[in-house]
Amino acid sequence: MKNQVKNKKAFAVRLGLLAMVSLSAGFALPALAAEPMASVAPQSQAAARPADAQFEAELEAFLQDYWHLVPEAAVAAGQFEAAARLPLPGEQRRQALLAFCDAWLARLAALPTRLQAKGQPALTPAQQGDLALLDNHLRAMRWSWSELRSGQWDASEYNVADPLAQLLNKPDYAPAAQRLAWIDQRLQQVPAYYRAAFQQLKNPSLVHLKLAIEQLEGGLTLYQQDIPQALRQAQLRGAAAASLQKHNAQALRATQSHLSALKRLARQLEQGGGGRSFRLGKALFETKFDYEIQASVDAAGLYQRALADKARLLQRMDELAEQLWPGLFGDAAMPADRFDKIGRVIDKLSERHVAPQRFVEEIQSQIPALAAWVTAHDLLSLDPSRPLVVRETPAYMRGVAGASISAPGPLDPKGNTYYNVDPLDKYSPAEAESFLREYNHWMLQILNIHEAIPGHYVQLLHANKSPSKIKTLFGNGAMVEGWAVYAERMMMESGWGAVDGKPSPEMALMYAKWNLRVVSNAILDYSVHVLDMTEAQALKLLEREAFQSKTEAQEKWHRAQVSSAQLSSYFAGFSEILALREQLKAQRGEAFRLKAFHEEFLSHGSAPVRMVRRLMLQPAE
Ligand code: ZN
Ligand code: ZN
Repeated sequence: MKNQVKNKKAFAVRLGLLAMVSLSAGFALPALAAEPMASVAPQSQAAARPADAQFEAELEAFLQDYWHLVPEAAVAAGQFEAAARLPLPGEQRRQALLAFCDAWLARLAALPTRLQAKGQPALTPAQQGDLALLDNHLRAMRWSWSELRSGQWDASEYNVADPLAQLLNKPDYAPAAQRLAWIDQRLQQVPAYYRAAFQQLKNPSLVHLKLAIEQLEGGLTLYQQDIPQALRQAQLRGAAAASLQKHNAQALRATQSHLSALKRLARQLEQGGGGRSFRLGKALFETKFDYEIQASVDAAGLYQRALADKARLLQRMDELAEQLWPGLFGDAAMPADRFDKIGRVIDKLSERHVAPQRFVEEIQSQIPALAAWVTAHDLLSLDPSRPLVVRETPAYMRGVAGASISAPGPLDPKGNTYYNVDPLDKYSPAEAESFLREYNHWMLQILNIHEAIPGHYVQLLHANKSPSKIKTLFGNGAMVEGWAVYAERMMMESGWGAVDGKPSPEMALMYAKWNLRVVSNAILDYSVHVLDMTEAQALKLLEREAFQSKTEAQEKWHRAQVSSAQLSSYFAGFSEILALREQLKAQRGEAFRLKAFHEEFLSHGSAPVRMVRRLMLQPAE
C-alpha cells in the first residue's frame, strides 16, 4: 500500500498535480488528499450573477478537457471509469500536453476581459483565486514537460497499478461487472504502455530505478491475487470472464518483463556508474519549489528561515532539558554535550505511552477533549452536525499512513469524516514498543491535533463551506499541511497540555521535538537537492540533531532522494501562516481576534497562503 502513495507522488511530479499532498511524513501523514479529492466538489452555490454561470461553464470546459487528457487526474477526482483509458507515454503525448497547456493558459488569461466585454461585473476574489491557481498549475505542467522532463530519468513514474486498485476498492461506485469491464479495458493496454515507458528512459537515476522496481514488484499481487479474487467474487462467467483472465495474464507478463528490463538497467548502472543523479540541482529545485510551494520566499530564503528556527528550537530544548533533568535523573551528572543531554531526557520521557491494545481507544477518547478545548478557548467554531468518526483503518487502506483523515467532500454534505487509525497488531512487540515510544503520551496528543482538531479535519470542515472545485482539485499542499502544523503551535499557545493549570515542560519539549522534525524536513530537502548533502550528513542532521530514531531517519533520507520540494511544504506553509498572523496582529492591534483570524483564513479554501495573505491584508473597501 505504501507503493500507492509513492505512485501518487510520481503522478504529481509528472503531471504537475500540485494538489496532491499524499506523501508520507512517516506516521503522521496525510492520506488526506487522496480522499478529499476522491469526491468531486459541486458547482459553486447557485450562480447568483450571469457572470458566475459563464465563469463556471468555462472552468467546467477546462476540467473536461483536462480529465480527458489526463485520466489519472480524473481518477483522483473521483471519476474511476477514467481508469479504463491509459495513454501511451511518448513524444506525441508530450506535445499534446504542451499544446493543452498553451491553449488553456491563453484562454483562461483572456477570460476576465471577455466577461467584462459582455458587460459582466468584475470577478470576485474567489474567482480570481481559482484562475490564479489554474494559471500556476498549467505553467508548472508546461515546465515539467519541457524542462524537468522527469519521465526521462524517473522510472517510478511509470506504474499502471493505482487506478486499477482504485476501481477494485470502490464497490459503491459501480456494479462489479461494470468495474471489471473498465479494468479489462485498462489491462489490454498495459503491454504497449510498458514497452513505450521503457523507451522513454534516456538517463535514469538509480535511486528512482530501484524505487520503480520495488513498487512494481509490490504491485504484482494485483494481477496475481486481487483481480482474480474480484473476478471470482463477482461470479463473472462467459466471454467477459475469459477476456479479463486473458488480459490480466498478459498484463502480468508485461509487468514482469518490464521489471526484468529495469533490473538489467539497474545492474548496468551499478556496475558502470553513470546514470543521472537523484538530486534535482539548484535551478530545477528552485523552479519546482516556486511552482509547488507558492510561498512568499524562494527556496534559499526558506532554507535560511529553517536554519534560524532550528537554532531557536535547540536553545529552547536545551533549557527545558535542564529544567527536567533533576526530576528524571536525580543527582546524576548532566551530559556536557547539548544533543546528548536533550536526547537523554526525550528518551526517558518516551517511556510513558499507552498500551498497544489501547492505542485506537486512546485516540478515540482524546478527540472530544480537543473539541471541547477549542470551543472553550474560543479558537475556532466546529460543526457538531459533522462529527469526526474515529475508526480502525479499513483493510485496503492500511499501511499507507498509520493515521489519516477521510473526508466526504462538499458533494456529500451528510457523509461522515473519518479519522482512520491503523491498529498496531501488524507489529511485533518490539516494533510496537518502538512505535509507541515515538507516539508517546505527549506526541500522540500532538498527532491528534495535527490530523484532527483543530488540524486537517477542521480545515476541511471550513474549506467545504465555500466549495470551489478548483481549490479542491488544485489546492495548495503547503497551505493544507501548514495549517495542521500551525494548529499544533496554536494549541500549545492556548495552554493545551498544562498540568494543574501550570505549563508542562514535558509537553513543551515534545512539541519542540515534533516541530524540529518539520524544520529539519525543510533543511533536508534543500540540502539534498541543492547543496549535495551526503547520506552521513543527512543521518547526523536527523538522528543526532533532531533526535529521530534510526528507522525514521533512514526512511526520511530515502524520501528526500525520491521526492523534491515536498518535504519543504510543511514548514513553508506553517511559517507563512504564523508570519501572516503576527502581521495582522500588529496591524489590527486591539481589534485583533484570534478566532476571527482563523475563520477568515480558512474561509478561502486550500489556496496558497501567499494568496490568502493578499486578500486578508487588503483594506476593507
Ligand atoms: Zn514502553
Ligand atoms: Zn498533515
